[in-house]
Amino acid sequence: MPPLLFSKQVRVKPAFFVIPFMCRGQAMSISTVMPTYARTNLVFESGDGSWLTTQDGRQFLDFGSGIAVTALGHTHPRLLEALTIQAKKLWHCSNLYRIQGQEQLADRLVSATFAETVFFCNSGAEAVECSIKMARRFHQGSGKSARSQIITATGAFHGRTLATISAGGNKNHLDGFGPAVEGFRHVAFGDLGEARAAVSDQTAAVLVEPVQGESGIQPADYDYLRGLRDMTNEHGLLLIFDEVQCGMGRTGKLFAHEWAGVEPDIMSAAKALGGGFPIGACLATGKAATNMVAGTHGSTFGGNPLGCAVANVVLDVILEEGFLDRVNEIGEKLMAASVDLVARHPSVFETVRGKGLMIGLKCKIPNTDVIECLMGNGMLTVVGGDNVVRLLPALTIGEKEINAALKILEQSAAQLEM
Ligand code: PLP
Repeated sequence: MPPLLFSKQVRVKPAFFVIPFMCRGQAMSISTVMPTYARTNLVFESGDGSWLTTQDGRQFLDFGSGIAVTALGHTHPRLLEALTIQAKKLWHCSNLYRIQGQEQLADRLVSATFAETVFFCNSGAEAVECSIKMARRFHQGSGKSARSQIITATGAFHGRTLATISAGGNKNHLDGFGPAVEGFRHVAFGDLGEARAAVSDQTAAVLVEPVQGESGIQPADYDYLRGLRDMTNEHGLLLIFDEVQCGMGRTGKLFAHEWAGVEPDIMSAAKALGGGFPIGACLATGKAATNMVAGTHGSTFGGNPLGCAVANVVLDVILEEGFLDRVNEIGEKLMAASVDLVARHPSVFETVRGKGLMIGLKCKIPNTDVIECLMGNGMLTVVGGDNVVRLLPALTIGEKEINAALKILEQSAAQLEM
């Protein structure tokens, strides 16, 4: 492989403060930022649309969007305006009181989806946590206290709280954090027969991502999602979709399950909902939320005025006429070009999959090498399971940036072939 522009720099150790300490008589050290991430040594100072600029002036084409968060790109003028107007009025208000922006956002999410009610929180994991609690309480509040188990899928990712790592079932995420939260039964993703066989008189719900993100962009078969809907209906179970990553326009529909023509009872959303401002939401039918009465769940910051002001505008933009059509158009172009790329570089790539602007390039060489090479050539992507490189550009990305990305992908693939 030829030397890459930035590859040396990105591998060096982070430069933040390191604090020495003693543990069991041994001298050790720890960075002041708890080292739970293997961070790349890049410090971004500003962003504009699909571009990020580092402190030392290097520009990167952002095809990661903070892992599917900045759906409208960086510093979108309408989000800036909404945030600054709200910041001059009121930052925080407890959920002990009515919050106008929150009511407005709930009304609009309800009118755009299957849902009849929304709980607001701050992150994806909290949104899933609310889904899990709601499913359990639905049954327990109706006198079916044995029904507490949730069927989840292999390869799933639902967050990093204790309940959501237990729901995900990834051994690496659970390692050292036991005991896991009880009440999750893992079955093969996409296998309806296994899901049916797992149903018992203890089952409360089924929880799946319509497109698995962390495990390497794995879209669920539409028939599988429809089959889960039929199965949950037959057994009086709740169907929960986790759309934290694939929702909010990412696949070309407001929510990915719309492609399959099925509706869940409960759904988690976050990430792109705030366009970069932390906000999460758990949407539900009135029936599923029937036992979520005052005092059953809460959040200090959830649905705060700043987050809701921004999320209302994110929703405005995504629901504007033609916005999702454009996501589909650009997504098809990127997918077609990716198919060609894979065909031209069979020693680097194996296949490509995804929907809309949620695309996964499965690699033949380590995906981290591909990501590093792309980074060296000025393009940021995201690692995924199954040796995949995730392409998650802003939904507002322009033709110019798509063409620039295709050039970098081609150039990097050629370098990696050598
Ligand atoms: N659910 C899915 C499908 C996700 O992709 C993620 C994060 O990547 C989460 C839940 C957790 O979201 P957060 O990191 O905001 O807690």
